[in-house]
Amino acid sequence: MGKDFANLKMFVLIFILIILGNLNYHIIGASSFEKNDISHLLSFNSFDLEFNETNAYDHISTQLGFGFRVPGNSAHTNCSNWIISQIQSTTSLVSTHEFTIQKEGEPSYNCQNILGKINPDRENIVIFGAHWDSRNVSEKALTNREKPIPGANDGGSGVGVLIELARVLSLYQSNLDSQIWFLFIDAEDQGYTQGMYGIQGWDYCEGSRVFVEDIDDFYDSSSESFECFILLDMVGGTNLEFIKESRSDDDLHESIFNEGRALGYNQSFPGEAKTMAIKDDHLAFMNIGMPVIDLIIDFIYGEWTYHHTISDDLSNIDSESLKITGRTLESFIKNYYSIGTEQNWRDEFPKWLYISLFVGSGLLLVIVGIVLKKRIWPGNSILK
Ligand SMILES: [Zn+2]
Repeated sequence: MGKDFANLKMFVLIFILIILGNLNYHIIGASSFEKNDISHLLSFNSFDLEFNETNAYDHISTQLGFGFRVPGNSAHTNCSNWIISQIQSTTSLVSTHEFTIQKEGEPSYNCQNILGKINPDRENIVIFGAHWDSRNVSEKALTNREKPIPGANDGGSGVGVLIELARVLSLYQSNLDSQIWFLFIDAEDQGYTQGMYGIQGWDYCEGSRVFVEDIDDFYDSSSESFECFILLDMVGGTNLEFIKESRSDDDLHESIFNEGRALGYNQSFPGEAKTMAIKDDHLAFMNIGMPVIDLIIDFIYGEWTYHHTISDDLSNIDSESLKITGRTLESFIKNYYSIGTEQNWRDEFPKWLYISLFVGSGLLLVIVGIVLKKRIWPGNSILK
């Protein structure tokens, strides 16, 4: 009889544990399900996606037509003028950020970041970035390593997608509650790898570092604030599969990858993406406190094998990859930044709340245990 009672008490305890466990699971589960799926599907298809991959492809072709976009070259100047003219036709406000780079004992180079803004009177700012210089050496090639790369994917693709995205979002700008910046970053790709500098003494990501130092010249910090920085680097290669850059913001990564998968681009935005740490232009923006993401491929071990070789040319660009990237980002902006939308890519159910619920459930369990002990089996210990 005594043993039966103990079994009954244990049964009640396990029952309570299961109930509380389920409660936690459903609260947490329902929250992430709603964020990632239901609310998304409800608003999806309320707009058309306009991003045109042929336009983006042609923009890469135009850049390669200038030649090698290496600081100091005439192709570099010509390409800069072309980018400015392109975004002048779509964005409301275009500015340039001139700077020089001079390493000890080396010549001085004129460089230029280019910024186009949509909706410059709105408070919040989303930044899209891509580097527009191309690498001066092909150190990963087997021969002729001192030759510059065409930079169709590494440089050209990000610029091509950004110019087309600026066109598409400019058509939609009156529906957006944020500014969108299109930032074309110079002097990214001349650093030191495998025994070779692009330009003697230079580091990678020189342009973004200098831009961030001067960023106060480009906005009013008393009335404007930054939402996030989204970097595009090598987004046009064949077999597009994005990695998770390890410094990328988790919520931003999840939301953009979910957006891609909702459009059917499961291979390009895998649920379990490879995680890698990449030194790239997003880090300068992360260092001043912005949530960032680097949309980039595994260019070391991945299927696109032309990184920093002369084969990074148009023949290894796939328009489909440009479409996948462009439409995903267009959809992301329209879903999260349309006027009146209640969607927020930040996880609205933060980790501290998960922990509070878990601890709270545990405390509740203890209290219920004590109450049961006193009321149902007075004088007995619930745990013998
Ligand atoms: Zn590169």
